[in-house]
Amino acid sequence: MRITTHAYELAMSHCAAAMPHEGCGVFLGRHEVIDDFQPLRNVSHQPRYSFTVDPEEWIRLIYAKDVAPILGLLHSHPHSAALPSDTDRQLYWPDLPSYWIASFRHPHQPKLSCFRIERSFTSAGEASVQFQPSPYVIDT
Ligand SMILES: [Zn+2]
Repeated sequence: MRITTHAYELAMSHCAAAMPHEGCGVFLGRHEVIDDFQPLRNVSHQPRYSFTVDPEEWIRLIYAKDVAPILGLLHSHPHSAALPSDTDRQLYWPDLPSYWIASFRHPHQPKLSCFRIERSFTSAGEASVQFQPSPYVIDT
């Protein structure tokens, strides 16, 4: 996965501005190249510790005709590492090529991690979700 500096900066500045709340949005692009970021409203009742994408904005986005495909979902962790939290692991996520977490634990050195979600079922028939770290490249 590649991400342009433009999209990277849009995403990180949105999340920085959302502090101390979690920020969220989607990365847009084509052919494994992310070149845009669309912020989405976090309508969680506990926005400092979780995020819920505004369902109206989400629906509008997925049916929009003039928008590039969604390549990834991003949210930020204002105070914790760029790793999926227990809550993140329990939520259902739509099938998207990538899942991004931006950590602002060190606000002057934010960290962005990319994961791919792999779903499987245990022998007991329970769904299990694995977040596999996925490398990415930032370029122009
Ligand atoms: Zn999270």
